[in-house]
Amino acid sequence: MIPRDQHPISRKQISRAALNVLYGLHEAGFDAFLVGGCLRDILTGIQPKDFDVVTNATPEEVECLFRRARIIGRRFRLVHVRFGPEVIEVATFRALGEPGDSDSSHSREGQILRDNVYGNIEEDALRRDFTVNALYYNIADFALYDFAGSMQDIQNKTLRLMGDPAQRYREDPVRMIRAVRFAAKLDFDIDPDTEAPIHELAPLMQQVPPARLFDEMLKLFLGGHAAYTLELLQDYGLFDALFPATAETLQDSDQRLLEAAMHNTDRRLAQDKPVTPAFLFAVLLWAPMRHLLERYQDDGMPPSVALNKASGHVIAEQVSTIAIPRRFSSVVREIWDLQPRLPRRHGNRAAQLVSHPRFRAAYDFLLLREEAGEIPPGLGQWWTDYQDADEDTREAMAAAAAKGAPAGNSGTGRKRRRRRRRGGAEGGASGGNNA
Ligand code: ATP
Ligand code: MG
Repeated sequence: MIPRDQHPISRKQISRAALNVLYGLHEAGFDAFLVGGCLRDILTGIQPKDFDVVTNATPEEVECLFRRARIIGRRFRLVHVRFGPEVIEVATFRALGEPGDSDSSHSREGQILRDNVYGNIEEDALRRDFTVNALYYNIADFALYDFAGSMQDIQNKTLRLMGDPAQRYREDPVRMIRAVRFAAKLDFDIDPDTEAPIHELAPLMQQVPPARLFDEMLKLFLGGHAAYTLELLQDYGLFDALFPATAETLQDSDQRLLEAAMHNTDRRLAQDKPVTPAFLFAVLLWAPMRHLLERYQDDGMPPSVALNKASGHVIAEQVSTIAIPRRFSSVVREIWDLQPRLPRRHGNRAAQLVSHPRFRAAYDFLLLREEAGEIPPGLGQWWTDYQDADEDTREAMAAAAAKGAPAGNSGTGRKRRRRRRRGGAEGGASGGNNA
C-alpha cells in the first residue's frame, strides 16, 4: 500500500463522473477503487480516456445505487453508470478460476470461457493482464495498492504479464495484441519473458471470436500510433495471424502502401480529422485483392467481373478471422471499385466521379498507391487539380484527358503488365490509361 503522500495521483486528475461513482459506493459502505489503465495513463503523463472502477458491491447493488446505471455484458457482468456524456464502468472484484477447474470455465486449449467468479481485491489484481494495468486507487484513503510491482514497471516503462506469459496468452490470445497496443501507445518495452512466447502462440488468434478481433483492430489502428503498431504486429508474427491472405501476397509496394496509410491515419487523428475503418481495411486487404484480381484476369475474366469476384472472395475469407461489419465492407468494395474508374475522365465521367459519395476515400487511396510506387505518379495530381478547378477549367481538363494527356495510370498491376507485354503499343512514356 502506497499512502497518499508517497504517490502523485490526485483527485484533480480524476473525472467528476468517476469521483461521483467512487464516493457513491463509498458512502453506501462498499469498497471503491479506480483500477487499471486510467492510473497507468496518469502516471505516464497521458490523459486517461476513461475511468474504470472496481468494488465489492455486486452488479445488482451497484445498479440500485445510481440513477443512470445499467447492467451489461454476458461474459463479464459490469455496470455502466452514466453522468452526462461520460460512462464509468463498474466491475465487481473477480477471481480467476484455475485452468482444469471442474466448472468448465476453460476450453481445452486453456482459453477462458467464463470469468465471473467474484473474489477479493488481491485475486482481482492477479487476473489482470499486465502489471502496469493492475494498480488500484482507494477512494477511502487515497492510497495506491500495488500487488505486482506495478509502480516499478511503469517507472521502467516495461510491459510485463502477470503470471506465466504462455499460460496467460493461452487463456486469452488477445493479450498478445494488447501487449503490442500498449507498447505502441505508451512507448513501453515488452519484457523479454512476456515477449518470448508471442511468435509461437500468434496462431492462437484464430480461436478468438471474429467480432472481438474487429473491436481490437479498431483500437490497434485508430489509437493514434498505427504506424508503430503495424511494425510491432509484423515483428511479432501477429500480422500474419490477423491478416493471413495479406501476409501471403504482400509485395514491397503493398508494404509501403500499408506504412504510408498508417502514417496518414496517425496524422489525421492528430489533426482531429475523421478516419474510417473501411479505409483501413481497403488498405490492409489490397494486396490479396490485387493478387486474386490478376489471377482472374489471367483466366480471361472481364476486369469488372474479376474485381467484383476478387473483392468478394478476399473479404469473405478475412471475416472468418476478423468480422468486418457489412456497413464497412461495402465501403471497402466501393473504394476498390473506383480505382480502375479514376483514370477514365473523358466526357462527364470526371464530374460524375467527383460527386460519388466515396470519391474522396478513393482519391486518398489512389494518392497512397502512387506514394507507395505501385502505380506511376500523375493521376493523383490531376484529380487534386480537378477538385480545385472552376467549372470551365474542369471541362477543359476532362477534354484534355479524353485526348490522352499524361496523367499517370491507376490501373492494377495486371493491366500495366499487359500493356508492357504489348510493347508499349500506346506509345509515350506517360502510361496514360484513357482508352
Ligand atoms: P485503454 O482503455 O487505454 O485501452 P485499459 O488498460 O483501460 O487501456 P481496457 O481494455 O479498458 O484497457 O481494460 C481495463 C482493464 O481491464 C485493464 O487495465 C486490465 O486491468 C483489465 N483487462 C482488460 N483486458 C484484459 C484481458 N484480456 N486480460 C486480463 N485483464 C484485462
Ligand atoms: Mg480502459
